Amino acid sequence: MANYEFDDENGIIRDRLTGERCIVVYKKGLESVFAGLSEIFKAGIEVLLLESSREAGKHLADTVEKGAKLDAKSSLKAYAKRFSQIGMGRLEISEMKLEEGRMTIRVWNNIFAEMRDKESTYCSYIAGLLSGLYEGLFHASPKVKEMKCSGLGDPYCEFLLTLKTS
Ligand SMILES: [Zn+2]
Repeated sequence: MANYEFDDENGIIRDRLTGERCIVVYKKGLESVFAGLSEIFKAGIEVLLLESSREAGKHLADTVEKGAKLDAKSSLKAYAKRFSQIGMGRLEISEMKLEEGRMTIRVWNNIFAEMRDKESTYCSYIAGLLSGLYEGLFHASPKVKEMKCSGLGDPYCEFLLTLKTS
């Protein structure tokens, strides 16, 4: 079964996993939206992306968990799969040490690393998304740091999630 339900006649696409309505966004279009935001917010765009995607991540955690009726760990795995299905790249959980409050996530072919804002990329969107997802699933707010970036020559983007100790 396809992951999306296409109602061409009425112009509606629905995600079968969450039941939510969605649209197809092209990279060029997204890039110009980001470029416009970057023009307005300058360096603040990083915080803006981080905060808005954190909310999106929390919402995703909610819908994935409810839609599939899974525990937090399985929900994360289900979401990793869904991440590649929506075309943002391939998400790989390369290390999961929940008891130590530590998780490493790799994103291959990250679309946000392919778009540039001068020297930097828009990977903070993924950082926020992962942070919100983690928060939504495990009810703890992690610190997220991008350790490697495919936009800077690494083979993938790598995000380290650690639980705040303070
Ligand atoms: Zn990156």
